[in-house]
Amino acid sequence: MKTIGLLGGMSWESTVSYYTLLNRMTRQRLGGLHSAKILLYSFNFAEIEALQNQGDWHRATELMVAAAENLESAGADCLLIGTNTMHRMADEVASALTIPLLHIADVTAQAVNERGARAPLLLATKYTMEEAFYRDRLRKNGVTALIPQRLDRESVHRVIYDELCQGLVLPASKRAYLDIVARAIELGADSVILGCTEVALLVAASDFNVPTFDTTSLHAQAAIEFALG
Ligand code: GLU
Repeated sequence: MKTIGLLGGMSWESTVSYYTLLNRMTRQRLGGLHSAKILLYSFNFAEIEALQNQGDWHRATELMVAAAENLESAGADCLLIGTNTMHRMADEVASALTIPLLHIADVTAQAVNERGARAPLLLATKYTMEEAFYRDRLRKNGVTALIPQRLDRESVHRVIYDELCQGLVLPASKRAYLDIVARAIELGADSVILGCTEVALLVAASDFNVPTFDTTSLHAQAAIEFALG
């Protein structure tokens, strides 16, 4: 079994999901007492969020690279960045390492293609929805993602930082997300990408009658395939 390196704490609410998924998937594959070998670096998310908010992506990249290098020297065989947003600096992190970085957008695009979805709606932070780094990576893999209208994007982003990353899962916000998806389906979306690692804490595939792609779960699955072969 290979060791999975995980940059987590962004936020820790979703790192708990990763930890559970990686171990549960290992048990499903190997049974008994088997669990995943994981090296975790967990950031203080207040420090990361402050850099995002100031637009100091340079410093944020330095922190991601240093933590990833630490995990590699500690014995990680691959690296996961446990957040979609911080894949903004995935290229810089990957080129600092000799172990592979399993890119969350690549594994998501693969799942979208396998389901034959053509127009997935991306629910994510404003950075992931509005900047080029994430949708370009999907597009390179043959997936053209739609994003919500401006006010809906603001609401999706606010719920992530003010609620989900702080452990608040509110029914009103769930209704808001369901309405946003319904509006996007009317405009042509045929599926949904839960493109933030906390969003599956609020909504699930069973809430939608279109294919739903949970990036946290897909990312964990890719790591287990890497670790167990
Ligand atoms: N975990 C979130 C994501 O997947 C947002 C928090 C962050 O900015 O890292 O994008």
